[in-house]
Amino acid sequence: MSKSEYAVIEAGDVASWSAETAEADVVIVGLGCAGVCAAIAAREAGADVLVFERASGGGGVTGLAAGHLYLGGGTRVQKAVGIEDTPDDMFTYLMMNTPEPDETKIRLYCDESVEHFDWLVERGVPFNDTMYKGKHVLQMTDECLIWSGNEEVYPFREKAKPAPRGHKVAQVGELGGAKMMECLQAQAESLGVRFVYDAQVHGLVREDGRIVGASYRVYGEEKGSVRARKGVILAAGQFTANDDMLKEYLPEMLDEAYTRQFSTYDDGAGHQLGKAAGGALKHMDGALVTASFYPPERHIKGILVNKEGKRYVAEDSYHSRSSLFTTQQTDRAGWLILDEKTYAADPPMWGAYPLVDAFETVEEMEKALEFPTGSLQETMSKYNEHAAKGEDPDFHKGPKWLTPLDNPPYAALDGSVGQAVYMAFTLGGLDVTIDGEVRDAEGTQIPGLYAIGGCASNIAQDGTGYSSGTCIGESTFFGRRAGRHSAAS
Ligand SMILES: Cc1cc2nc3c(=O)[nH]c(=O)nc-3n(C[C@H](O)[C@H](O)[C@H](O)COP(=O)(O)OP(=O)(O)OC[C@H]3O[C@@H](n4cnc5c(N)ncnc54)[C@H](O)[C@@H]3O)c2cc1C
Repeated sequence: MSKSEYAVIEAGDVASWSAETAEADVVIVGLGCAGVCAAIAAREAGADVLVFERASGGGGVTGLAAGHLYLGGGTRVQKAVGIEDTPDDMFTYLMMNTPEPDETKIRLYCDESVEHFDWLVERGVPFNDTMYKGKHVLQMTDECLIWSGNEEVYPFREKAKPAPRGHKVAQVGELGGAKMMECLQAQAESLGVRFVYDAQVHGLVREDGRIVGASYRVYGEEKGSVRARKGVILAAGQFTANDDMLKEYLPEMLDEAYTRQFSTYDDGAGHQLGKAAGGALKHMDGALVTASFYPPERHIKGILVNKEGKRYVAEDSYHSRSSLFTTQQTDRAGWLILDEKTYAADPPMWGAYPLVDAFETVEEMEKALEFPTGSLQETMSKYNEHAAKGEDPDFHKGPKWLTPLDNPPYAALDGSVGQAVYMAFTLGGLDVTIDGEVRDAEGTQIPGLYAIGGCASNIAQDGTGYSSGTCIGESTFFGRRAGRHSAAS
């Protein structure tokens, strides 16, 4: 990692212990969904909790999120809308869908998913007992359940009974994350958690190998260090806004073709503090990268082809999975091919694939897109022949999305990087135990130091294996565990 303003100082070198904040049992760095859940859990376990937040209020990237949580195994909402789901099916799906799955974490997450849902509800987070039935990036209503991953996609559907598990906080439109923060912050305040805003934590204090405090400044003014009797929890979010870190771990995200999504202080402070204390980083090249060609959902009936005129992914895949497959094609180029029946003139809201043109014949389109002669004609005639029988032997697209594309004119929408709108945020973070304890390169825990949420690595690892809701789901779940564990330490 390049030179960092974040550092560890030995307790003997601390210039001044803060008079304003004195001491706490548990010190939390960052007030997003991970930090607030850790604060509530630690406080409920009897700890005196102090939260430092660099912004003037809580929220972070969570406050920008639609507010999906990936939960299942038979939640109240799933039952109310008649969805059957089990922790085992959820486990099988997540294990298959994650590139390097941590079985113990995924098992626990699935087994305790219903309990976690109930915990959030008991602390004021509302979810309606309703389901959005269409295929969308996010429901613009206040309906709750949505298909938010690859559950119905081959090969996942063959091994795990599909169930929708994206639970959106009851809020019309995109502000579910903000609503959740409002509820959880109110809960933390009522429990007596202490907050210091406009406070940037820039140092960790170590004593005899244990992290025992943190140093902070407010509007650039040094405020000294505060002692953490039981632990310091890093909950400072992702590193999407840090160009130096991206250069090192995810250089393609610096490409102007990607629209990075972050909140003001996503500079990877948690990653850097943890690293300075000896923590190891994991899956730092993982990112959620997406340019969705749906809605409208009938576009899923089209086919994605590369420069060779060939298909490369099942088009009913979760949008980040198909997008990442596009980025892996020659020149990061891909086109969505539709016919008169499948093309919807209303522009898609998310990926914004520009229309290249409409063509009377496939041959004409193949020429205009400069594909090898005959390639697209062959791809489409094979696809149409099988689609007419409800089959897709190459990519096993689900039968409900299969229809021959044989009604001219044909449309080509450009999904190439640089043409479609690709949005991206980082997923990598500190290596942690199931209780959020930061581990070093040898796998040994660093006493007194925890990491959760966007600055920790738990379940979400990359875009091909992502399901919407995993980040907030795991941030809140493992946030609670770290809060409880640190309070008890
Ligand atoms: C636009 C968008 C939409 C998303 N939608 C979803 C979704 O619907 N579902 C889902 O699962 N995931 C979603 N994600 C991802 C998800 O929102 C994040 O992974 C998750 O909210 C991270 O939570 P967090 O608590 O770790 O971080 P944050 O919510 O970002 O909180 C971190 C906090 O730490 C503070 N901080 C940073 N540095 C310091 C410092 N040095 N000292 C003190 N404080 C500091 C920040 O100001 C911030 O308030 C979305 C991401 C984006 C960008």
